[in-house]
Amino acid sequence: MEYAPRAEPILAPGHFTTPYLREVAARASVRSPRRRTRLVATIGPASDSVEVLAAMAEAGMDVARVPLAHGSVDDAIERVRRIRKAAPQVGVLADLPGPKIRTTGFPDGGVVLAAGDEIDILPGSLCPESSAARVGVALDEVAAGLQEGDHVAFGDGGVSVRVIERTGDGVRARVSSGGRLQGRPGVTVPTSRVQLRTPTQDDLERLEALVAEGIDMAAVSFVRSAADMMAVRAALGRAPTMLCAKIETPEGIADLDEILTVSDSVMVARGDLGVRVPLEDVPHHQKNIIRAGVRFGRPVITATQMLESMVSSPVPTRAEVTDVANAVLDGTSAVMLSAETAVGVDPVNVVATMARIVTRTERDFDYVRWGAGLGLQEVSGPPSSALGITAAITGAAWRAAVEQNAAALIACTRTGRTARVISRFRPAMPIIAATPSIETARQLSVSWGVDALLVRESTSTDDIVWHSVQAAVEAGYAKPGDVVVVLAGSPTEPDPVTDTIRIVRVT
Ligand code: PEP
Repeated sequence: MEYAPRAEPILAPGHFTTPYLREVAARASVRSPRRRTRLVATIGPASDSVEVLAAMAEAGMDVARVPLAHGSVDDAIERVRRIRKAAPQVGVLADLPGPKIRTTGFPDGGVVLAAGDEIDILPGSLCPESSAARVGVALDEVAAGLQEGDHVAFGDGGVSVRVIERTGDGVRARVSSGGRLQGRPGVTVPTSRVQLRTPTQDDLERLEALVAEGIDMAAVSFVRSAADMMAVRAALGRAPTMLCAKIETPEGIADLDEILTVSDSVMVARGDLGVRVPLEDVPHHQKNIIRAGVRFGRPVITATQMLESMVSSPVPTRAEVTDVANAVLDGTSAVMLSAETAVGVDPVNVVATMARIVTRTERDFDYVRWGAGLGLQEVSGPPSSALGITAAITGAAWRAAVEQNAAALIACTRTGRTARVISRFRPAMPIIAATPSIETARQLSVSWGVDALLVRESTSTDDIVWHSVQAAVEAGYAKPGDVVVVLAGSPTEPDPVTDTIRIVRVT
């Protein structure tokens, strides 16, 4: 097929009716080499203003993560509105707290515990404020259930204690590994002692309010099985919100494939994972989770402590730089900043630093080898299912694009699925998702290498292909003489499947 420009523009200037569309149009006219691995930044007190949020987006933030574990739902909604105002093109990921047990609050500045110190652990109702001598646990039955010999960890495992005796309502414990405790750190106890389910009622209430606010994605904490994800999905009803399964428990690791089957993306939540499995296992779980996510065509976010020292320092450690680079080389779709941007001294500088590290690493990423190494078994989906067909046709499109040295791979997509599935090949050329849906465009902000272009609705496969190529040419992704490979389906089908490849020469 050949493409030659028609007189009729794909999106007439008047079509850019919202600030977002204008923004997309403005960005489209300047093409520079694009970073492929996406950047998720957690929003908190240090990054709450519209000015800082806009500067973070400018520096490279693709997705803003709004944690729901602290503050009220109304605070979270205000935060989402500020993000939308500052950076309408950025995806919004709301992170549900899950059944996380926390201490009661420590005084400002926190307290420092040293190895060998003894503390009392008490029900939160008897100890509403924690100190260096008495630590309250917000869920009363936790302190009641602890027994001699139990190990308890606080925060991301920096501080841990061993229970030495029961003391009526609580326990006395000796600090085995010391450190600072501040705010309301999480509490990790032996899982056999307290069985907590995901999602909690609080998760579902927060989710409903945030979905009504139009968030793009929701992360589910402490997922232990596919059933946990399905319970959240059922609560979503028909809302198109993407669900991200946070893998942070041994049960979640054991049920990974089943969880991936019913999730839209996954997060390697290294903080909580590192207190539930041996620390030295974390890098290996990271690699396995990334590989599994790629196999299922799901974006994978690698999270926590990536540039931790930048909470207080203007430069990262060499080890942190290497950690970010290695996650990119592992094939992660996105890397995430947590405390660094939520409470750190300079959130914009952290985002810019991470973007620089990723961009440099991608120069050495072996794109062709990655795609060629995927093999036929990748992406589950029985033969003749929509997913099975999408998997087969994206493999063929990737190969054609490599053989033809295509300028771009274009996925015409309403839900984003085709773009997500072809992204697993990590091709060197841009992946363009041509979509009529602004929600889909924002949800793709977490997908490796996918640039979304908004196109008008079409009524035939020919028109879809035409419009998408025109959008790509206008946006500067292809020029006369280039070849682009286009994937499309038929918009008139009740349940459209991507079943067509066109190799288009731009003339
Ligand atoms: C983690 O534990 O690594 C994580 C991302 O979860 P949270 O920040 O909610 O503790």
